[in-house]
Amino acid sequence: MIEQLDKEYVLQTYPRNYVNFKRGVNATLFDENEKDYIDFTSGIGVVSVGHGNESVAKKIYEQVSNITHISNLYAIEPQAKLGEKIAKLSKMDVATFFANSGAEANEGAIKLARKYGETKFDNKRYKVITLEHSFHGRTITTVRATGQEAMHTDNFSPYPDGFSYENEIANIYKSIDNETVAVMIELVQGEGGVQPLDKKEVQDLAKFLKEKDILLIIDEVQTGAYRTGEFLATNLYDIQPDIITMAKGLGGGVPIGAVITTHKDLFTYGDHGSTFGGNYLSTAASLEVLDILERTKDSGELDKTISYFENKIESLFQNNKEIFTSTVGIGLMKGLRVKDADTLASILKESFEQGVLLLRAGKNTLRMLPALTITNDEIDEGFKRLENALSKIAK
Ligand SMILES: *Cc1c(COP(=O)(O)O)cnc(C)c1O
Repeated sequence: MIEQLDKEYVLQTYPRNYVNFKRGVNATLFDENEKDYIDFTSGIGVVSVGHGNESVAKKIYEQVSNITHISNLYAIEPQAKLGEKIAKLSKMDVATFFANSGAEANEGAIKLARKYGETKFDNKRYKVITLEHSFHGRTITTVRATGQEAMHTDNFSPYPDGFSYENEIANIYKSIDNETVAVMIELVQGEGGVQPLDKKEVQDLAKFLKEKDILLIIDEVQTGAYRTGEFLATNLYDIQPDIITMAKGLGGGVPIGAVITTHKDLFTYGDHGSTFGGNYLSTAASLEVLDILERTKDSGELDKTISYFENKIESLFQNNKEIFTSTVGIGLMKGLRVKDADTLASILKESFEQGVLLLRAGKNTLRMLPALTITNDEIDEGFKRLENALSKIAK
């Protein structure tokens, strides 16, 4: 039924699993037959405080039974409070523009950088350098910013000018010219393979860019909202970027995106906008999500969960070296490199059968992005099911 409807009435842009999830409790999902699945994906890093989170549901209900939306032509109290909260948690002197998704946040960041390049220099600076294997979104501009040739198909050309890609940080320096306005990177490449950048290299780059008056944009759409163990991966890397984007985990499942910047006066009236961005629904939800996550961090719970998860993944790796070649990632953004893509495909398929949901990243990385509130019992059960799946596949 659901399969037939989906195939007939929904554009087929994703190859899907036809399971009909009916309810969720933290990191556990139940399908229509009450079969349970341990969710190590959290909807690709979105459901940061788990499924069916009661206090978030309550806040959303209270908000939408009053005002859901009023437009950005009026001040919105939870939006202003969320901006304040982001500034406080980031420990930076920043203000935020609210959007609805990661791609839209990155579009906003690129627009902001372009304005900087247009207005601050004698010549026009507009070029943005990104890294290979990056992922920045699916709009025409952000797909162009994404450093994956396969995504720049002629089907969608022509693309906007001014984007180039380097395979590593060390090579960014030589591709900078006097038209370069910004460098945009993820500190831990998510879709590219859960690959963290080297801290010292990032700090040196940040220092160099500051000296040259070139903006540093950090795409924290996946790493933000405590995914790496700190509010921002930026905090972990101890840098001061010009622009940070967030989305996925920020709303706990409610669509929200954020362009966070130290250049607070660069955008002026009319430069940018969004009908839905930062409305009462998304910002009230996000405020509650951040309250929960901040408490989870401050109480030491999050760090405990991270080290518990790390131990589990390490022993899985040690016990299955004929399948995995290494572990990667930071915080609760973790991966295991699989010896080849076919083996990874069978692991994903068999794990699903065994009742544990996992993700792929890049060609051969098994990726895990559990809810930050996942319990030790859920972690134990998920790894047990994954072990069962591994015992069933050809080695
Ligand atoms: C998911 C992701 C995006 C795109 O976000 P959408 O909400 O799907 O538009 C951009 N950058 C990174 C690093 C992401 O992980």
